[in-house]
Amino acid sequence: MATIIDGKAVSLAIKDQLKKDIAEYKTSTGKDISLAVVLIGDDPASKVYVNNKATACEYVGITSYTYRLPQETTQEQAEDLVSSLVNDEKITGILVQLPFPKHLDENKILKLIPANKDVDGFSDENIGKLLQGKKTVVSCTPFGVMELLKHYNYDLTGKNAVVIGRSNIVGKPMTALLINANATVTVCHSKTKNLAEIARTADVLIVAIGRPKFVTEDMVKDGAVVIDVGINRVDGKLVGDVDFDTVSKKASMITPVPGGVGPMTIAMLMKNTFIAGTER
Ligand code: NAD
Repeated sequence: MATIIDGKAVSLAIKDQLKKDIAEYKTSTGKDISLAVVLIGDDPASKVYVNNKATACEYVGITSYTYRLPQETTQEQAEDLVSSLVNDEKITGILVQLPFPKHLDENKILKLIPANKDVDGFSDENIGKLLQGKKTVVSCTPFGVMELLKHYNYDLTGKNAVVIGRSNIVGKPMTALLINANATVTVCHSKTKNLAEIARTADVLIVAIGRPKFVTEDMVKDGAVVIDVGINRVDGKLVGDVDFDTVSKKASMITPVPGGVGPMTIAMLMKNTFIAGTER
């Protein structure tokens, strides 16, 4: 039976450390760390995420400002708000909660956020730095996966890592982080042939596709480390992209859903907000 990676405990440890670091920073510099969160529309999941982010900010000592705009917000209104936050000196980090209502051009709005206020690691500059192995703000979820592996003392050097999923938010930054940590990385996606065969070569298998229980035990090597990023709602329950019950019998370590990668994402957002706020 695999070791169950406890994302809740690790995320709490990270937030507790941050709480100390932020308090120390504020005392020594007299400066504040702040996060502006922009929520547009009525997406119920987004509302929950935004509330969770405000709660986490309060816990670690980051001043949070939440801007809630109605569903019918125009592109111009959304851009005006984000631009005003960019120019507001009291705001050190900006996050726009995705997805936006369909009539808005997300990319145009995201592009307004400069690298030094980008707490999601989505800006071209921060992605470029990541690819070059330079210190930067990295997309929260893959950053959280790396912290989990570090916490469990897993050395990636020379390991075969397979990432399933190539999104800009998870799969691609995950791939760069693994390469930077000296793993040998293969990326699979919806057009990959022989995916199961490739997955079986993984010492570390990271799955981020959004397909409930897609990875089954026949796709996993004995003793592999399995990281399940997926969050799917099935019959009112959260399930991952990995069939936990069977795969956990074969893996050496595995993340559960919920309680694995999920809690890490917010903890890393807090860390990114601290990095963005202090390295100006
Ligand atoms: P996405 O939809 O942007 O990308 C999915 C990727 O999976 C694509 O690259 C696609 O090529 C690949 N894919 C889809 N079907 C596939 C298949 N049958 N075989 C192989 N590859 C396939 O998704 P995303 O934003 O990267 O999110 C992926 C999952 O991770 C979702 O379940 C999402 O909810 C979850 N997620 C969780 C967190 C967290 O905090 N834990 C954060 C972000 C995303």
